[in-house]
Parts: sequence; structure tokens; C-alpha cells
Amino acid sequence: MSVLPFDKRDGFIWFNGALVAWADAKLHVLSHGLHYASAVFEGERAYGGRIFKSSEHSERFRASAETLDFTIPYSVAELDAIKHQVVAKNNFENCYVRPIAWRGSEMMAVAAQNSTINVAVAAWDWPSMFDTETKMKGIKLDIAEYRRPDPLTAPCRAKAAGLYMICTISKHRAERRGYADAMMLDWQGRVAECTGANIFFVSDGALHTPIADCFLDGITRRTVIDLARRRGVEVIERRIMPEELEGFEECFLSGTGAEVTPVSEIGPYRFTPSAISRALIDDYSAEVQPKKKAA
Ligand code: PMP
Repeated sequence: MSVLPFDKRDGFIWFNGALVAWADAKLHVLSHGLHYASAVFEGERAYGGRIFKSSEHSERFRASAETLDFTIPYSVAELDAIKHQVVAKNNFENCYVRPIAWRGSEMMAVAAQNSTINVAVAAWDWPSMFDTETKMKGIKLDIAEYRRPDPLTAPCRAKAAGLYMICTISKHRAERRGYADAMMLDWQGRVAECTGANIFFVSDGALHTPIADCFLDGITRRTVIDLARRRGVEVIERRIMPEELEGFEECFLSGTGAEVTPVSEIGPYRFTPSAISRALIDDYSAEVQPKKKAA
């Protein structure tokens, strides 16, 4: 499959204060962010030209940077306006939006207090695909070898570039073995999340999901919890051990990219996507659409 490389596309990227031609959004090879992973980012989606929960993403973006000991030099309102400008300038209706902030080149050692904080926002086409019947077949997950780190080992709640190293390795291994993705356990051997999405299980009509205390508390995760409760479905956030997967009926992932994606298999465990997965796919698809203004 040949995909147009991401540095060879047309359009505009917002780069440190201005929209620039896509090809010109470059950084120097001696950038702290590249060598020491001093970079944080977001993954967002626009539906019908409107970014879903834009301000929550902007807040998380700023909070991730603070965790890495730097401040993004734009407010939430400014970031929201920049992201909107990028979507509009590229004439996107349904797209993915990728803000990133990284330390620049002033200091090239572990300490980098005086480095410039760079910020860029790109967007690319990502049509909304709610083909429910295909999704309801469910995807197959491997169980990753790497575990989500102890909060005392890494800034695990930030959306920080460095935390994705074990995700890429785990996802490659899963794909090599014929799976779509890998479920990761945490440092204590409990179920945590996937390489780029959170995880939910269904048992006796209730949703069970791990407590987000050592991995990203996804904005989609919080949306799904809210949607389920609005439907009267009980949501239980708790510690889940892998052996318990035997007793769950349904399983699905949540994330900006994954939206609500049913799972049919995790290692030796089997699930049958049914009523609750379908209801939440539908509820999420309705929730992300821009609300019509009342006449
Ligand atoms: N966990 C990880 C590791 C992720 O990369 C993502 C995607 N950002 C998520 C969970 C889901 O987060 P969100 O719902 O905010 O997209």
C-alpha cells in the first residue's frame, strides 16, 4: 500500500505563529524534542468542520507540557482559534487535527530550561466512517509484552511523545502476529489500555473499565462513560485483572481515532460485540456531530 508521505502533502500547517505552506513546516535536526522526547501532542477530530471537544484537548495539551516542565505560550482560547483556522484554511470538514509542542535547539543536553517552545498544528483528511456493521465484527488484540509504567517511573498521564515508544514496539509486534493492536497491562499486571485507545468491557449489562491512574484518561473514554450513564448503563471504574476477561461478554476500545471500536478477541479470550457496543457506537456518532443551532 503506498500512502503519500506526511511531509509531501499539500495544504497549510500553523507553525510558530503563522500558517505556512505544508512543505515549509520544518525543524532542525538538533532539536531537543527529537533527541530527548521533550514533546507533547494531541490527537483530535473535526466532524462537519467542528473539532469535537476542542477546549478539552487544548487543556490537556497545556497540562501535558506542564508535566514535562514547560509552558505552551498560548492560552486554551488561542489554541482553539488556531486549530479552527487550520481546519478552515485546509477546507476540511472531517479531519484529524494534530497539535504538537517541542523544545527547540538552544540547549542540546538533558537540561534544556532555556530552550524555545515551538508549537505547530497540522490537520489531515480523515473521513468519519461509521460503518457500524463492519465495526461490529470486532477487531483482534494481542497482549503486549511491555507494560504501562508506574506513575513514579514516567509522567504517564501526559500525552507525551516518549510514552509512545513502547506503544509503537507493541503495535508492530501485534501486527506481525496478525492482530490489529495490543492490549497493555500496567506495571502491576492489571488491564490498562491499548497502544492508542482506552478499553471497556461489558458484564451483566454494566460497563467495566480500568481506573485511569497510570495511563491516558482519554477524552473519548470520558465521553463514553457519560453517554453510557445517560442511557442508564452502570459504569464501574475499577482494577481489572487479565484472568477476568474470561467472564466479560463484550469489549470495545475508545479513542479519538478508534471512536468506539468493538473487540472480538484478546489473546485467548473471546467476545461477541452486541447491544451495548452498538448503542455506544450510535450514541458517540450522534454526539460528535456539530449541534444544529435552535431556530
Ligand atoms: N490512550 C492512548 C495511549 C492514546 O494514544 C489515546 C489517543 N489519544 C487514548 C488513550 C485515547 O484518548 P482520547 O480519547 O483522548 O483520544
